[in-house]
Amino acid sequence: MSSFTWHRAVIKIGSALIAPNGHACTAQYLQHIARFITASREKGKEVIVVSSGSVAAGRDSIKVRHQPSIAEKQAMASIGQTRMMANWAGLFSFPCAQVLLTYDDLHNRTRYVNISNTLRELLTNHALPIVNENDTVAVNELKVGDNDNLAAYTALVAQADTLIICSDINGLYDADPRKQPDAKLIPEVEQIDEDTFKLAGGAGSSVGTGGMLTKLQAAHKCMQSGIQTLIVNGRDAQVFDYLSQGQVPGTLFKAEKSVGNARAKWLKHTLKSRGVIEIDKGAMNALLERGASLLPSGVLEVSGHFKAGDAVEIHFQNAAIAKGLAQYNDAELSQIKGSNSRHISNMLGYSVGEAIVHRDDMVLL
Ligand code: GLU
Repeated sequence: MSSFTWHRAVIKIGSALIAPNGHACTAQYLQHIARFITASREKGKEVIVVSSGSVAAGRDSIKVRHQPSIAEKQAMASIGQTRMMANWAGLFSFPCAQVLLTYDDLHNRTRYVNISNTLRELLTNHALPIVNENDTVAVNELKVGDNDNLAAYTALVAQADTLIICSDINGLYDADPRKQPDAKLIPEVEQIDEDTFKLAGGAGSSVGTGGMLTKLQAAHKCMQSGIQTLIVNGRDAQVFDYLSQGQVPGTLFKAEKSVGNARAKWLKHTLKSRGVIEIDKGAMNALLERGASLLPSGVLEVSGHFKAGDAVEIHFQNAAIAKGLAQYNDAELSQIKGSNSRHISNMLGYSVGEAIVHRDDMVLL
């Protein structure tokens, strides 16, 4: 078995575990997952759940003659989502926070930053974010479409270090285990290429949307961004004992080594800077020596036109020292520059946080 260490994980639980019979939701397979989540949090780890099951949980409440239409499925999701959340909430003594996302939200940078801030806030306040696709509003072209890829996007936006996909299969095999009984589980994957995708075969389980293909797509996205991905069998309670001991009783897709670099490269090279924030010496020291976030008090000047979520350069004495995503637009920053973070809400009438460029969204140049 491979071993792993983690601090912030997205745990994806598929419909096959939430609604094993294809309709209604049950806690049958969730008890041991919930125990693992609670125990991990008690050790100081951070967990975000991505849960499927809304369509299945609402299925019985919508009358359908043949194949359900899109609207019928959306109505099922609407009813099922509250049932699925109630199912989870019954397993924990801390608050569960519903987060419904679409592809559209994740590709709009302002919303992306908002989602990231909200998740950070929920974790800081010890709530358990439970994410699903907003199936009720999303039509096909705005959808991620499956919760494996949604979980990968969630891991990215939440800056998790680990994605754990809990399914009804043990991991990735070298052949289809349903057709070839001698198929062998692959304990560790260093790199996903064409040949790995060929191992994915067909869709697998009939309850959820995802099969092995979407799991590999999710793992691929995560690995490239420095997030390790595990596929484990969530039906097996023992799996979670192994996970608690840092062992992987399934397949571990290792994060690319240039981890920080993948994100740093993206920030540094891919994103165009839209503005410049000139900071004072105190702020420069905080950034370079303490690894701190940039606060408004250290800002001297703001130039350029940018929105919240745009990339900006941070300068000290006209030399670029860092680049990052701004939490506020240029007009807002001009108003709050030089002020203590405490006064942001008074000055703007709202606040999206005390940092104007959060450390997680910053790269030193
Ligand atoms: N969002 C869907 C649901 O909650 C599940 C999609 C999936 O299983 O991949 O029913």
